[in-house]
Amino acid sequence: MTGLSIMDLATPIEKLAHVGPKSLSRLKKLGIKTVKDLLWHFPARYDDFSAILPIAQVEAGTIVNIKGRIVDISTASLWRRRRTVTNATVEDESGIIHVAWFNQPYIEKSLPEGTMVSLAGKAAMEKRGLYLSNPAYEKIYSRELTHTGRLVPVYPETEGITSKYLRFLIKPLLAGVENLPDPLPEELIKKYNLPNLGNALRSIHFPKRNKEAELARQRFALEELILFQLRVLRDHRQLQTLRASIINFDEKLIAAFVGRLPFQLTNDQRIAAYEILQDLKRNYPMNRLLNGDVGSGKTVVALIAAYQTVSAGHQAVFMAPTEILAEQHFRTIKLLLDMQKTSSIMVGLLTGSGARQFPTDETIQEKIGKKLMLQKIAKGQINIIVGTHAVIQKNVKFKDLGLVVIDEQHRFGVEQRMKLVKGQTLVPHLLSMTATPIPRTLALTIFGDLDISLLKEKPEGRQTIITKVIAASEREKAHKFIEEEIQKGRQIFVICPRIELPSSENGGNGQLSMKKLLWAEVRAVAEEYKKLAENIFPHRHVAMLHGKMKAADKNKIMEDFENGHHDVLVSTSVVEVGVDIPNASIMMIESAERFGLAQLHQFRGRVGRGEHQSYCLLFTDSDTALANRRLRALEKTNNGFELAEMDLKIRGPGEFTGIKQSGIPDFAMASLADVELIKKARFEAKLLLKKDPALKNYPLLLTRLAQMQRVVHFE
Ligand code: ADP
Ligand code: MG
Repeated sequence: MTGLSIMDLATPIEKLAHVGPKSLSRLKKLGIKTVKDLLWHFPARYDDFSAILPIAQVEAGTIVNIKGRIVDISTASLWRRRRTVTNATVEDESGIIHVAWFNQPYIEKSLPEGTMVSLAGKAAMEKRGLYLSNPAYEKIYSRELTHTGRLVPVYPETEGITSKYLRFLIKPLLAGVENLPDPLPEELIKKYNLPNLGNALRSIHFPKRNKEAELARQRFALEELILFQLRVLRDHRQLQTLRASIINFDEKLIAAFVGRLPFQLTNDQRIAAYEILQDLKRNYPMNRLLNGDVGSGKTVVALIAAYQTVSAGHQAVFMAPTEILAEQHFRTIKLLLDMQKTSSIMVGLLTGSGARQFPTDETIQEKIGKKLMLQKIAKGQINIIVGTHAVIQKNVKFKDLGLVVIDEQHRFGVEQRMKLVKGQTLVPHLLSMTATPIPRTLALTIFGDLDISLLKEKPEGRQTIITKVIAASEREKAHKFIEEEIQKGRQIFVICPRIELPSSENGGNGQLSMKKLLWAEVRAVAEEYKKLAENIFPHRHVAMLHGKMKAADKNKIMEDFENGHHDVLVSTSVVEVGVDIPNASIMMIESAERFGLAQLHQFRGRVGRGEHQSYCLLFTDSDTALANRRLRALEKTNNGFELAEMDLKIRGPGEFTGIKQSGIPDFAMASLADVELIKKARFEAKLLLKKDPALKNYPLLLTRLAQMQRVVHFE
């Protein structure tokens, strides 16, 4: 193929020679459907076979690349083991070496005596002398080498799709990329001395030197980051063209509300509430993220906003990721509103399992039919509605929704908000809340379209949780300690090891992987449960929770745990994020090294909610220095933001929730830790929009933006 155009990039891969039906479905598993996908399937790394070694200098145990002539070659069958071995002898000017290939009898035919070959692989020693075992091989023609004798790209693979096959498909395409139109403006390419699109594609797949590949990678990363910044900046601007209800800040009302709270607000809470109330006064929709550790008191800040909203005659909705958390919000709101003695505000809870309302009296019961609840919401008789994301997004009609508060879901686009108020022209204000501490650099990129309020300080009187890394040798002692705590009447959370699917399962088909992951997690929980219930605490009540249980069963177990019927609760990392159990004093995490620091910090936040001294025990059998250094950081600091920055430096950004869904492709993820690159991207994106707000002169960027939007909204 010579001279690819944009149209050719869209060519489905089944049109390519050498892509049969079997390969087709396997390539699709890797997310490769078009020529473009293939070209953008970047190597994960390179094998450096660029140094050609004279055979005489080959040493056993090393990985080498040699070039020479096949002197003889023959295949023998090892019948008893149903295997074949193809033996060859190869010589160059300096000497000879033996070669053995197992179970690839066809090689004999493709490399007959006299063939010039390039071989890359590991040298080993046996009786006959030095030999190469199963080396990669390639005939030497006049054209340049592909699979040996150079920096050889190694791709993300899946069963049946090898890097060799991918190189074989990709290399001929690269002959045509020269004049592919480049979405990055020429000035920019020149300014930063980057390769243009065609050169970058060639360099990233078949670089002459590592430096060349690195530069190409930077180019693609910068492109993605600029696109992302463009999107964020445009979203931000678009938001300001939309209209929302103006909700005036009634200072007296709020002062009275705050005065009747059972505690003093922290400074950070005060500031956050103020920032939010200022946003609500504007005629365009708020888009604010409230970021604070578990226990930092986000709910009451959101409630202040909701209180102002409903007092002004609108409705407010609280959306939580799970029923349990929705219940908890409902209870917290109930408690805090009760102290206000303002019975005029009606609060409703709506989940998959039913509906409840508050306040109640002789005529109004707490339990209420879902249908009736929906009617009441539609008529505006319920002012604050609490529920799970799913329920509320699906079937609720509001009378006048002014504010959406959403817990633990970072992105909730304008479109999604519009869906909540079908047919109305005013967009509700949005406050999203998260306990995942977000490092500043990431906040700027991924959440650059959000205003952020931080709750850095904890309410007074919170205890410091004692954190300890527990090595394999200290397990027994730790179990004894836990037993003593149970004897004192305390309760224990146990988090099972995080499950990682082998990379071959992580191909394009996320659906399948999610399902497998869930089941793998169920197995992990069941195992841990069995171990604890049968061997370690056989005389105690141990319960388990996992993602495959029905919501009602989960609720029951949580309730029982809360009421002290279970001593130990084993669960996966994914269930339940912010549940309040004041009597729980130990958070025990198995194989802690598999989690990110920010996430471990969040787990830790589940204890220490009551009066009892609490502990976080990080069990690890890993003795690598890095894992231990990471975990020890948790012993030293209680500051979630610090830990998140550390995580970002050590493990890269892939670990942060919300980032996988950001639409940033995997290869560009690593660049999210690169502050300088992010700054560049932000600067250039701003410049572009300043010069050309509608991006009229950059149609390719516009197309890419539109594609990006589609991907992200597909979630
Ligand atoms: P999170 O930020 O994890 O959602 P919550 O909003 O659930 O935290 O608050 C945790 C607990 O702290 C709740 O019981 C809440 O009533 C209480 N709380 C919130 N703010 C304060 C404060 N300023 N002083 C004392 N307790 C507070
Ligand atoms: Mg919360």
